[in-house]
Formats: sequence, C-alpha cells, structure tokens
Amino acid sequence: MIDQSSYKGKFTSDAPLGEQSWFRCGGAADLLFEPKDVDDLAIFLKEYPKNEPLVTLGGMANCIIRDGGIRGCVISLGKGFAEIEVQGTKIMAGAGALNGSVASAAAKAGIGGLEFLSGIPGTIGGALSMNAGAYGTEVKDVLISAMALDGGGYFTPFSVSEMDMRYRYCGVPTGTIFVGAIFEGVQEDKDTVRARLKEIKSKRQTTQPISEQTGGSTFANPSATELKQAGLPEGMRAWQLVEKVGGRDLQIGGARMSDKHLNFMINTGDATAADLENLGDDLIKRVKSDLGLTLHWEIKRLGDR
Ligand SMILES: Cc1cc2nc3c(=O)[nH]c(=O)nc-3n(C[C@H](O)[C@H](O)[C@H](O)COP(=O)(O)OP(=O)(O)OC[C@H]3O[C@@H](n4cnc5c(N)ncnc54)[C@H](O)[C@@H]3O)c2cc1C
Repeated sequence: MIDQSSYKGKFTSDAPLGEQSWFRCGGAADLLFEPKDVDDLAIFLKEYPKNEPLVTLGGMANCIIRDGGIRGCVISLGKGFAEIEVQGTKIMAGAGALNGSVASAAAKAGIGGLEFLSGIPGTIGGALSMNAGAYGTEVKDVLISAMALDGGGYFTPFSVSEMDMRYRYCGVPTGTIFVGAIFEGVQEDKDTVRARLKEIKSKRQTTQPISEQTGGSTFANPSATELKQAGLPEGMRAWQLVEKVGGRDLQIGGARMSDKHLNFMINTGDATAADLENLGDDLIKRVKSDLGLTLHWEIKRLGDR
C-alpha cells in the first residue's frame, strides 16, 4: 500500500484517538498520519487508495469516536499547519492552528471581530468544516477564503461565497481537506479587543461545562420552520427541548447532560462512546415522540460501534 518511509510526517498504527478526544473515550484509528507539511499531505493523498476510508480530524472537540474505532486512515494536521500570520487587518492561519491562538493573535495586533473564536475549542480546520460560531458571529462572517486539497491531493482554493456555509455546515465537496484560511477583521484598540476576550472567557466559565469531558453542543438548535411545523414556540433552543423531555435526569452508563448547559453531553468518568451515542439517540426519540420535532446531532459520530 503506502510506503510510510518515504514521508516526512509520522504514521501511528492503532492510534488511541478516542482517549485523546474531548470526551476521553472511544476506540482507536487503524492508522493515523500526521503530515509534516502541505507537500507531504498532497503526495499522500495522491498515493492513498481511493477506495480506502479516510477522515481528517482537528482537535476532536466536536466528535465521538465510536468504541469499535475508525477504519482506514485518520489525517491530523499538527505543527506544520499551525502558523499564524498577520497582514494589516487580515490573518492567515493554518488549519492546524488553534482557534484560541488565532483569536489571541488578532487581539495582539488590534484586530477586532475574531474574539468569538476564543470560546470555541479546536482547530481552524474544524471551525471551517463546522462553520463554528458563538455570541452572534460565525466563521463565515470573518472568512475571506480557505485553502484546501481535494481527495486527489490537488490544491483547491475556495472563496467564502463558494463554500455554501450555513448554520454549523460547510458545503465544500466531500473529501476536501482544509489546510489554511484567510480571515479579515477590523482595526480596533487593542485593549478593547482584549476586554472582549476576557468577557467571553468569563461568560463561558459560567455557562458551559468547559472543564468537563464534553463535545460542545450535542444537537443543532432547531430552525424556525422546524419549530413552526411542530407547533412549538418561536426561538426554542435545543437545551429547552432536552429539558422538556426529562433530559436533566437521564443517565446512560457514564453519560448524562450537563446541569450547567443541557445541550452539552458529558462523560462523567466511565462512559463509553456507546453510552454517549445511546443517550443522544434516546433524547432524539423522546423529543420526536413527545414534541413532534426531529432533533439533529451537531456532534459527529465516527467509526464503528
Ligand atoms: C467545551 C466546548 C465548547 C464548545 N463551544 C462551541 C461553540 O460555542 N460554538 C461552536 O460552533 N462549537 C463549539 N464547540 C464544538 C467545537 O469546538 C467546534 O465544532 C470546533 O470547530 C471543532 O473543531 P475541531 O478541530 O475539534 O474539529 P473535530 O472535532 O476534530 O472535527 C469536526 C469536523 O470537522 C472536520 N475537520 C476537522 N479538521 C478538518 C480539516 N482540516 N479539513 C476538513 N475537515 C476537517 C472533521 O472531519 C469533522 O467532521 C464546543 C466544544 C466544546 C468541547
């Protein structure tokens, strides 16, 4: 298959990704590849058999790695993809850069508008793929363009208008691997930007279980149309639906919803990935049968049960 010795990056067989995910549970990947740089990744993509499964992961802050593990190969973009460069009000960031580091670099340069990223765990690659957002701003609002490789290893840049970004969704072709992005903010006083970062930090500490083993919002908030069709009040959020169907008192194995935020699922210590997924599926069933609305997973579930 692949001649691993011809690459600059690192290969790991049976890589224990589940325990490195934010949920700290789940299985291993058959093979993990951490390319050294874009060229290394491009060569790998050209050589990797097209019929073998391949998935790219960032900080694993939005996924459950199922207990049976992930078949094929997982690509993880590390140091070689973590550079951040500021030019005027623009910020160029590699897909492996942490959202928090990009927000800090922006603040340091007196660029406003990217503070929301500081509250979103994970990498720029994950943020692009999820159109991550918080406090009224989403990635698409500050994104100019993204650099990517297609499944065949060919460089494919996208302007934001070509990416069909919507609520927690990015419409680039399947198999696209983001390697970097260009964002633009506005010139502002450094202290004002820093004060907003501080505000976000303290808001998050009081409203989200950030020190728990969690994966962010479990379910996407329902759209206005979905709520209307189910005859539910306008503006209802996923956590309110979870509360209405008894989600506060529900526990499956070591999995339950956080008391701090009922749309955040947590591993209380000994949860398996199956416990987490079964809890989510049970809540989806309850909301459907009791309230007539279909909740959709926001968390990605990857691998074999
Ligand atoms: C405590 C906590 C709070 C959170 N709060 C928020 C919030 O306020 N707002 C919000 O939007 N999210 C939030 N999240 C969820 C999560 O932080 C975001 O979804 C984040 O963007 C995930 O990034 P990641 O690098 O961890 O991606 P991963 O979880 O590793 O992957 C997520 C998806 O992105 C894809 N992906 C990752 N990297 C790439 C790449 N380079 N190219 C192509 N696809 C890629 C993966 O295949 C997968 O489908 C929170 C999570 C936690 C744990």
